[in-house]
Amino acid sequence: MAVTKEKQGCLSLIFPFLRKNDLPEELPYRTRDDFLSPAELSFYKVLSSTLGARFTLQSKVRLADVFFVARPNENFAYFNRIAQRHVDFLICDPATMKPLLGIELDDSSHQRERRQKRDEFVDRVFEAANLPLVRFPVQRAYTTQELVEKIAPHLRNALGKPAAEAPATAPAVSDPPAPAKQDSAPLCPKCNIPMVLRTVTQGEHKGKQFYGCSNYPRCREVKPVPAQRPPA
Ligand SMILES: [Zn+2]
Repeated sequence: MAVTKEKQGCLSLIFPFLRKNDLPEELPYRTRDDFLSPAELSFYKVLSSTLGARFTLQSKVRLADVFFVARPNENFAYFNRIAQRHVDFLICDPATMKPLLGIELDDSSHQRERRQKRDEFVDRVFEAANLPLVRFPVQRAYTTQELVEKIAPHLRNALGKPAAEAPATAPAVSDPPAPAKQDSAPLCPKCNIPMVLRTVTQGEHKGKQFYGCSNYPRCREVKPVPAQRPPA
């Protein structure tokens, strides 16, 4: 009996189309009525009206959709650690959807040891990726004031930064040359891995070369190629 089952499993691995007909007429999926728990919903309402149109609020975002593993080849296990985990809320810049701040609602299970370890890990993930995270205790109701007090400082910082950074899509090829060695690729400041030489394929900078992160598109860090001295 067990052997037969195992054989079927093997066959379906080799011939995935064999599995297609295994699906019943009616799939057993139903829409959840508790997509947000009462506590989450109450928090969501106050927070979204507090944020207004200046920010976008997402709920239940998978950590693996927010973060990536900087050196995936050596750190495969680290992807698994965030693959099944979610952050309760994520505030994004509505223009770019760039994540600005994570929010966790801590219910009473927060006190349990296992939960604490899990929370500590999530805290460290956010810290490593330089994304702020704030925690609120679950309570019956929230006031705009208490949310603003905790959230506003982080949003001010988050909004201050992007303007100073290089634009995400346009490689800064016209910047003054970095004091990097001519023949060695610079390290990506975010991933700490060597960047790769790329060529702009379209637009007004077409043909120009720049260094891009090999984790692109998850990482869009770019650096200018040091200018070649024109022949004397
Ligand atoms: Zn990078």
